[in-house]
Amino acid sequence: MNMNPKDLATTAKNSWCPGCGNFSIMSAMRMVLAELDSQGFPVENVVLVSGIGCHAKIVDYMNVNSFYSIHGRTLPAASAIKIANPDLKVICFSGDGDSLAEGLDHLIFAAKRNIDLTMILHDNRVYGLTTGQYTPTSPQGFKGKSTPSGTSEHPLNPLELMLVSGASYIARGYTHGIEQLQKLFKEAILHKGFSFVDVLQVCVSYNNLYESYNKWTYTVQGNDASSFEEAQKIIRSWNYDRSEVPIPLGKFYQIEAERFDQSFPEYRQNLSERDSKIKTLLENFI
Ligand code: SF4
Repeated sequence: MNMNPKDLATTAKNSWCPGCGNFSIMSAMRMVLAELDSQGFPVENVVLVSGIGCHAKIVDYMNVNSFYSIHGRTLPAASAIKIANPDLKVICFSGDGDSLAEGLDHLIFAAKRNIDLTMILHDNRVYGLTTGQYTPTSPQGFKGKSTPSGTSEHPLNPLELMLVSGASYIARGYTHGIEQLQKLFKEAILHKGFSFVDVLQVCVSYNNLYESYNKWTYTVQGNDASSFEEAQKIIRSWNYDRSEVPIPLGKFYQIEAERFDQSFPEYRQNLSERDSKIKTLLENFI
């Protein structure tokens, strides 16, 4: 029997602001997981991992195995889950503050290792949960609680960082384009390697960019996603600082590459023996 996306809802009270882009990300992910479940990719084999921030509540609202980690530490927890049980599909949710500030080193290393994880970046370009401070993707001049006169820093381009670090699937979506989000999420989940989807997730309360994104986003067509140079050119065409310029959406890069999670065959062969040793140790300890 086909799974209904509503089966993946929980009874937890939702505390996101009305109009928040997080709703689109959650709906798209529920639809994709229900569809994949119906296609022989059981939701029981999926684990969701989140960090800290408004995005993180998504794991409370999805009836899927999940792990709520600490700030910036989504990827270490997700990597451990994947390495311990490579049959699981681990999907990470993180914010731009969570992953690009507190957790930046983990993000770079996950891409460098090309570990088989999917990272969905809720990129609202502001710290929403703590009421409006600038993050690494806020544009220069962004005025918030911590920068009332405007930040003097230029933003990071997370996709450029992912490309040069070794991520093997890179895409961008927008929370006003739920069909595209579904397509990109499905591709990213089925991709073997580190897949990174930057989602322009609008924070209606502290950085409402709907008008700007509605005007300037477009979907790339006919690009060669296997070309590093082409992906770099598309990714560099918008650097998060400039406004009033076209903002590309879609899949920019996808290649096959060696994966970190395939590097432990010897460990896995000895896993049951080690498991029994650990069990004996714990029994003696107790
Ligand atoms: Fe969404 Fe912003 Fe409200 Fe957080 S503060 S729930 S990101 S609209």
